[in-house]
Amino acid sequence: MLKRALALALAVVVCLGVGLSRAGLAQGNLVVATGRGGAVATVDGDASRIGLEVLRRGGNAIDAAIATAAALGVTEPFSTGIGGGGFMVIYFKEQDRVITLDGREQAPAATTVDLFQDPSKPGQLLPFSPNRISSGAAVGVPGAPLEWAEALNRYGTLSLAAALEPAIALAQRGFVVDRTFVQQIEQNQARLGAFSSTRALYLPKGQPPVIGSRFKNPDLAKTYGLLAEQGVNAFYRGDIAAAVVHTVQRPPVAATAPFPVIPGAMTLSDLDRYGVRVRPPTVTQYRGHTLYSMGLPSSGGITTGSILRLLEGFDLSRGDRAQAWHTVIEAERLAFADRNAYLGDPEFVDVPLTGLQSQGFTQTRRTQMGDRAPQEPDFRATAGDPLPFQQDPSPSLTSLPSVAQGPQQSGLSTTHLVTSDRWGNLVSYTCTLESTGGSAMVVPGYGFILNNQLTDFDPISPHPNAPEPYKRPRSSMAPTIMRSPNGTLVAFGSPGGSTIITTVVGIAINLIDFGLSLPEAISAPRISQRNTGSTQVDSQLEQTPLGQGLIGLGHRLTPVAEIGAAVGLAMTPDGALLAAAEPSRRGGGAALVLARSGWLSPLPWPGGLGRGHDSLPGER
Ligand code: GLU
Repeated sequence: MLKRALALALAVVVCLGVGLSRAGLAQGNLVVATGRGGAVATVDGDASRIGLEVLRRGGNAIDAAIATAAALGVTEPFSTGIGGGGFMVIYFKEQDRVITLDGREQAPAATTVDLFQDPSKPGQLLPFSPNRISSGAAVGVPGAPLEWAEALNRYGTLSLAAALEPAIALAQRGFVVDRTFVQQIEQNQARLGAFSSTRALYLPKGQPPVIGSRFKNPDLAKTYGLLAEQGVNAFYRGDIAAAVVHTVQRPPVAATAPFPVIPGAMTLSDLDRYGVRVRPPTVTQYRGHTLYSMGLPSSGGITTGSILRLLEGFDLSRGDRAQAWHTVIEAERLAFADRNAYLGDPEFVDVPLTGLQSQGFTQTRRTQMGDRAPQEPDFRATAGDPLPFQQDPSPSLTSLPSVAQGPQQSGLSTTHLVTSDRWGNLVSYTCTLESTGGSAMVVPGYGFILNNQLTDFDPISPHPNAPEPYKRPRSSMAPTIMRSPNGTLVAFGSPGGSTIITTVVGIAINLIDFGLSLPEAISAPRISQRNTGSTQVDSQLEQTPLGQGLIGLGHRLTPVAEIGAAVGLAMTPDGALLAAAEPSRRGGGAALVLARSGWLSPLPWPGGLGRGHDSLPGER
């Protein structure tokens, strides 16, 4: 939400003057802030400002992350909020340690593999949209409220009440509606309008709010207030729990709903039973850099790791850029085939991780990467066999599982935020409702939208990601913290469904192999292959020399309007900070630092951190 970002005195927009269009390839304005003492980057100015204020008052990176996430629940209600879930990666400076918090939504007890069967057409699945995604059946038990409470309890300095306070004020006083907010409503108008509570909040008089008007959400302010007063159990055991269950079981369908709405079977006991998990991060070594990311039930860290391990066998930095991206595309293709076949909730599935992550398996897969793109238009790579490379007790698979291919969405849903504090702690947090606008159901009287995260299951059996009671659907979210050889830490991540994985890989190789600065790595055009015949690219890339080079290597390119919406921050060992956000995707983001100054630290990786940020106009 660039307008709000620009209104902030601390937002720094560095103009490199290489094209100013808002379309796919726009890279002209890099949203960058440099300095010390703490930083926040999000897609939204109000949210970043709230996070920065928490840091200013002495809060740590975890406090700032939760306050920021709560604010995003107000200003980005179609992407995130207490009706959803998320994954948080935290770096603790004092112990030099990374942990992750799994606040993923969980399937209710009554879940079966028939979750998305069409009740009127036995043996057939409901169409994905709108019937499956806008249903009570798609709603998982939200994880965000408990994840926020756990993060604060364990690692924060603020109470939940204190962390929610700025977002309560924001929901009460309102924020200025921008184009992105209106577009998200317009693009989902049929779904959002199908529920009376959602229509009343976001389609007053049947239309989205006007750009430039002030949008208030007193119901959400009240709900946050209940959490502040009564604690997080108000959500999992109290009045809010009852309202959530009622909404799922009896969706507030408007008389004019243009599609049948399937109810869900969530109960109070499902909410009561929900737990947040503290899990170790995935750890991937790539050309001397270490990437810490989210493990199962997210496929994010594992699959980015698989892709980077494959790429380590090639020199991408020299020679033809199209040839380098061809290599990336083929690595992504194979890694996604393996992801789709093997990954699922680790509490339900024995995932052959040792094999998948072994050098032997990686080497075998590398030999399957061709010099040109596969020629069949609908080519799908088959999964590799990691079992011969398992060193520990292996799952007893007698045959390779089928390569299930979930919907390959790359919408505007979900959001990522990064924070750091004066003590050197970092947070990288991706939070989501799944689709833009989640299930499209606002909990009546409570002002927040419920997720539709259970659509991330593969509704077939047997499959590692088949729906089961209490299981968490496989995610692609990849909140990442990377340590470079000189000790600089970079926290980054993105929304975008399964494109999250390729966006995170793209940012990593932009930094490490192609020598881009963090702002450039974030704003650069994206290329995303997820084991489909065609490769998605940011629109217009297909017309560039790089796009033409890829086409020359046999790739079919599908231009799409927007892939991901990343943010990131880099922190050197001596505490210098650089925060960066998107210049144009999702309307642009907001990167803020506490004490602004130039970026004075040594270059943290080959190629440098930015082409002279310190000397650019407006930077000091
Ligand atoms: N539900 C998706 C996941 O967990 C995130 C949705 C998105 O980013 O669009 O992978």
